Amino acid sequence: AKGMGKGGWQRYQSDLAHAMVQRLELRTQLHEAIEDEQFVLQFQPIVELADQRVTGVEALVRWQHPARGLLSPFHFVEAAEENGTIIGIGGWVMREALRQFAAWKAEDPDTSLRYISVNVSPRQFRAPDFVEQVRSALASAGARPEWLLLEVTESLVLKDAAKVVQDLRALRALGVRVAIDDFGTGYSSLSYLRQMPVDVLKLDKSFIDDILTSRQQHALVDAIVTLAGNLDLAVVAEGIEEPGQRIALDTMGCQYGQGYHFAKPLWPVDIPALVAAARPA
Ligand code: C2E
Ligand code: CA
Ligand code: CA
Ligand code: CA
Repeated sequence: AKGMGKGGWQRYQSDLAHAMVQRLELRTQLHEAIEDEQFVLQFQPIVELADQRVTGVEALVRWQHPARGLLSPFHFVEAAEENGTIIGIGGWVMREALRQFAAWKAEDPDTSLRYISVNVSPRQFRAPDFVEQVRSALASAGARPEWLLLEVTESLVLKDAAKVVQDLRALRALGVRVAIDDFGTGYSSLSYLRQMPVDVLKLDKSFIDDILTSRQQHALVDAIVTLAGNLDLAVVAEGIEEPGQRIALDTMGCQYGQGYHFAKPLWPVDIPALVAAARPA
């Protein structure tokens, strides 16, 4: 606060206090937000890098807050994880995402869409009946297990490995696939991951950002993609913003990508047209 006048310091303190009050308010409002169904989903396309067909979408939750407007997960997911409301929110996300995806498949049986990615928080995954929740969400949406890709974090598979592995196996036995989200931001290694029943690596945006400007970063991503391929893991590169990044990743043999270069997260009504437009004739 050096260089701030006394008035500046006081304003800074009251801004901080204000921000804290707002965060506390949001936290307590999460409970009623579930009951009032204030959550909505956007969907971000995941494309095949070689031909840019849209083969998947990731469901991303937003909170339609009655006073504060549309809030991104940044404003509430951590708090929801802490106070346990993420279990209810995540359950809703899973059911709604599968319902929506089944509707798209029914509308256009020839769609290039093959799967829907759903984020699962550690707390939600650790709920004793999580596998059963997935099974029943699939059944009530009339969705095939092959359509569902669950995105879990590295930290989940590092802790409590025995119980987590057992549940991952049960999910895979259903036909559901599992992705490690934000790969590279945690501490797991590829060789460790290979012992885990997972199918897909989502390579974090921070790895993609510098592949065109840093030879080291390019070499690192190239090595990860090659090793993942040898281990039969599919790779999705996150946060592709430039055409050159798509080309570089495609050349490395990375099969899938996601990012603003292709599309931002979209409202459900905008998905079918985009998918149809990206389909090669
Ligand atoms: P994530 O799973 O890594 O999702 C990708 C995030 O990166 C999304 O932010 C997406 O909008 C953003 N993104 C995608 N492409 C680009 C790009 O090219 N450039 C940049 N700068 N950003 C890009 P979003 O929707 O704000 O979500 C943030 C995080 O919130 C997600 O990160 C995920 O960890 C969490 N989240 C979202 N929905 C859910 C949910 O339903 N359940 C749980 N547990 N977490 C969720
Ligand atoms: Ca994700
Ligand atoms: Ca991610
Ligand atoms: Ca990320």
